[in-house]
Amino acid sequence: MKINHIEHIGIAVRNLEQAIAFYEKQLGLPCYNIEEVPEQKVRTAFFKVGQTKVELLESTDPEGPIGKFIENRGEGVHHIAFATEGLQDNLDELATNGIRLIDKTPRKGAENLDIAFLHPKDTLGVLIELCENPKQ
Ligand code: ZN
Repeated sequence: MKINHIEHIGIAVRNLEQAIAFYEKQLGLPCYNIEEVPEQKVRTAFFKVGQTKVELLESTDPEGPIGKFIENRGEGVHHIAFATEGLQDNLDELATNGIRLIDKTPRKGAENLDIAFLHPKDTLGVLIELCENPKQ
């Protein structure tokens, strides 16, 4: 496993427009991309902070993962995404080591990244996403 940097921090919000206004007006971070990811039942907004991004996540369905997260725990940090290389090999290695995976094979996330989530029960309570830019 080799992790290069924190790709993004995912933050669950109730209202994407209000959250974007806060990040833009109060923190001075311009939103450069808004994207819906139907498979994950979210709308996302992205902000660059150095080479790391903030990904705001608004649920489009109360039964989706972000909808349930907000219902149970309220708004807040939802996951940390690490940029890595050889994503499938990394997942296989983790599985061999007994770490449970939400995604055993990568799937497409926002911004055309290949992504996979590890199970938070095996990652000390933090939902960890590994991602790989297929263009690299
Ligand atoms: Zn993410």
